[in-house]
Amino acid sequence: MKKILHQNDSGFVVTCRHILFENKPIAFAHRDHIYEEGDSGWQFLCGGGHNLEEAKLVTMDEIMKFDSGIKSFISEPAGCKFRKDFEINKWKGIKVYNSFAKTINWLRRVVFKSK
Ligand SMILES: [Zn+2]
Repeated sequence: MKKILHQNDSGFVVTCRHILFENKPIAFAHRDHIYEEGDSGWQFLCGGGHNLEEAKLVTMDEIMKFDSGIKSFISEPAGCKFRKDFEINKWKGIKVYNSFAKTINWLRRVVFKSK
């Protein structure tokens, strides 16, 4: 088991090609513990399914260009999850650990392993 590193709010984030290249909005955000230097623990994904080829690493500054609203919760600790409510254009915390959060957590671990 790797050592958990200190929280780094300016590290790299995992996102998907749909957000970067296909104009899909960020729908889900989830933060995991940090095991690698330079990682923020964050992942920001659209609402669709994802495979490894669709996952991309970008900087925190880069992802904020797509949705500045994420600034409001970027310092929340590992384990937090948020979804965008598009009807009111606001981010909301997700209390229940749903299957989507599990999926994106798995995706992030695989992306960092394959770096
Ligand atoms: Zn996507």
